[in-house]
Amino acid sequence: LLTSDLAVIGGGAVGLAAAWKAREQGLEVDLIDPTPGKGASWAAAGMLAPVTEVHYGEEALLRLNLRSAERYPSFVAELESRTGKNVGYRKSGTVMVARDSDENEQLGELWRFQQRLGLPSERLSSRECRGLEPALAPSVRGGIFVESDHQVDNRSLVGALLEACRKAGVRFHTEGLREVNVRGNRLHGIVLENGDEVSCGSVLVAAGAASGSIPGLPPAMIPVRPVKGQLLHLHGPLGSDVASHTVRGLDVYAVPRGDGRLVVGATVEERGFDKHVTAGAVYTLLRDVYELLPGIIELELRETAVGLRPGTPDNAPLIGRAEIEGVMCATGHYRNGILLTPITAEAIAEIVTGGDEPEYIRAFSPLRFQSRSGALT
Ligand SMILES: Cc1cc2nc3c(=O)[nH]c(=O)nc-3n(C[C@H](O)[C@H](O)[C@H](O)COP(=O)(O)OP(=O)(O)OC[C@H]3O[C@@H](n4cnc5c(N)ncnc54)[C@H](O)[C@@H]3O)c2cc1C
Repeated sequence: LLTSDLAVIGGGAVGLAAAWKAREQGLEVDLIDPTPGKGASWAAAGMLAPVTEVHYGEEALLRLNLRSAERYPSFVAELESRTGKNVGYRKSGTVMVARDSDENEQLGELWRFQQRLGLPSERLSSRECRGLEPALAPSVRGGIFVESDHQVDNRSLVGALLEACRKAGVRFHTEGLREVNVRGNRLHGIVLENGDEVSCGSVLVAAGAASGSIPGLPPAMIPVRPVKGQLLHLHGPLGSDVASHTVRGLDVYAVPRGDGRLVVGATVEERGFDKHVTAGAVYTLLRDVYELLPGIIELELRETAVGLRPGTPDNAPLIGRAEIEGVMCATGHYRNGILLTPITAEAIAEIVTGGDEPEYIRAFSPLRFQSRSGALT
């Protein structure tokens, strides 16, 4: 029987960062994942874009996104100094563009919404768009510039988090989870696939899109579903990037890594746990990005990627204590899990070390769906 303060189920960006932060606070931490770092966090584009990702009715989420964006520089500095790895954090900004006057109208509305919220964004004429990004198609009608949107190389981030966890002494279990052991309404521990038991004070469910189907936990307690996203990795010679900022249309984005790589994404599909790359998605992504940046036609198509976003009924994450005593969630981060990694890890570390749930995560309590799951008594 192993004993542990915290067992983290799932080693994506969120679970790894939470495990690392909790371990740095002196807790014994076990992380259970057969394939750590290879989920949505590997597939993602790495945009840190609270301002261009803002949606009507999601102002509470916007505040959390902005808070996490603020944490990014110090989070990255600490991670890089602990591991000696560069995670490709770049303050590259976003140019969002319209292909026609209807889209330009929509961007105008988005810009006015951003202004009402006091967000830093600039309305651009078509000429100003091309001034910032000379390779944009001549048909581009106008746009929005958000200098404060940044990016991180999510694969490097995950690699560094794995390393930070190992260095800090987080124990990894790649044999997988058989079940979470709950008695009454209380956590008793977990059982690994090989039959080993871990007696733990707390469990953190951070299993991304699979968080709704953790054996031993009531399925309705964590209402997370997979939302499939496909994307493409294009590549050109170093120094010949087709764009220097992230370029977004209404249906497609292109994220230049600054070294010839260009990540183009992404579809949003309700297909359960299906992870096939489809010809239709590759076609649509290439067609849409070509309409914005025709120069992509020369690039090498190096990789197709697919990931499952952890979606929730209100598109907001579940962070904090769940209905069962000893069980916490850090999941449901949907489109913004890379962005929300620092703030989520910080909040979880605070709770597991005995603090109150920070005020900034109260709106994201997993308990807000309690009536749906049929109270557990
Ligand atoms: C195409 C695409 C593009 C995206 N772009 C962005 C972006 O630009 N910016 C942004 O902020 N976000 C983006 N996202 C969203 C982001 O990727 C996710 O919100 C984030 O990665 C979720 O992290 P996670 O750690 O919760 O999940 P994951 O990274 O999916 O990790 C979950 C882990 O749990 C493990 N697991 C599952 N079941 C079990 C089990 N039973 N036992 C043990 N372990 C288990 C899995 O093996 C996996 O390693 C994108 C997502 C996709 C799909």
